[in-house]
Amino acid sequence: MLLLDSSDQNLRKAGSAIAEGKIVVIPTETVYGLGADAFNPDAVVRVFEAKNRPTFDPLIVHIASADAMETVARTIPRKARLLAEALWPGPLTLVMPKRGEIPDIVTAGLDTVGVRCPAHPVARKIIEYSGTAVAAPSANPFGYISPTTAVHVVRQLGDRVDMIVDGGPCTVGVESTVIDMTHETPIVLRPGGMPLERIQELVGDLAFPEKNLKAFASPGQLKSHYAPHANLLLFSQGALSGIDAATVPPNSAAIAFDAEGARLLQQKGCFAWVYVLSGKGDMREAAARLFAIMHTADESGFQALFAERVPETGLGRAINDRLYRASKKS
Ligand code: AMP
Ligand code: MG
Repeated sequence: MLLLDSSDQNLRKAGSAIAEGKIVVIPTETVYGLGADAFNPDAVVRVFEAKNRPTFDPLIVHIASADAMETVARTIPRKARLLAEALWPGPLTLVMPKRGEIPDIVTAGLDTVGVRCPAHPVARKIIEYSGTAVAAPSANPFGYISPTTAVHVVRQLGDRVDMIVDGGPCTVGVESTVIDMTHETPIVLRPGGMPLERIQELVGDLAFPEKNLKAFASPGQLKSHYAPHANLLLFSQGALSGIDAATVPPNSAAIAFDAEGARLLQQKGCFAWVYVLSGKGDMREAAARLFAIMHTADESGFQALFAERVPETGLGRAINDRLYRASKKS
């Protein structure tokens, strides 16, 4: 495995490696991705193998600019074009009818494909230099916390990939928002780094699939995901400060949203450590730090992690979704 900095020469190297069928870890603004040529089924299979990812979980195809949409999608629904023009590059994945040239392994046999143009300039350069579209899931073992630094990837997947490009810590820090654009009213398949409020401003109403239908609409959205090794116990907003200290096992840590929340939890005296998502209560900062805090907590060997939901607005929806899935052990 080669660990490279993001000099232009290295980005060219990474692009050529993808074109040759290698699997390359690339930084994006959401999380680090493990990329392969989206038109090369053999390379894509290696991505699934490296991650132990079940093949019923479709990959997102990344493009260097919105102009490349037509190379992956068979038709571009009107609202999809509108969102792409307004919000790309960015943490937004649009699910559209797929072109026949995209191998089934990429989309788990679905006749739709998830497409995204990432905002991270390093990701866009690598895709551009590869001369193709890049299928890339997060660069972590399936089910574990997503990586937001190159070091996370080296630790979790280092010996299973051909190359890792270090582009610094991810600024958004949670995965993209995924929207199914194949219906007149777009369907939210996964809350993520693009706030739903911004999408609604542009295309109006959004639909939310019923819980039991969700598995069909977006096969990868498993209940247990993004999970640390430690048990994560999730409480409703503000409830953690009311917890009975005697019920907290030794060697537990807590995750507070802001400085005031952290102060209340520290006062309880039952947590070995209290992490703060954002001292000033900034939702963007909280999202960017969430996975890194889970990684650090695991490395520190805490038995249990106590967390509470954050306000359900903007990126708060994505944070609550990831906390919820991290709390569900299958
Ligand atoms: P990840 O690569 O781990 O960020 O996850 C990609 C997720 O996007 C999958 O788990 C699916 O839930 C969703 N997704 C990707 N492509 C499609 C598609 N064609 N239809 C529905 N959902 C998709
Ligand atoms: Mg993932």
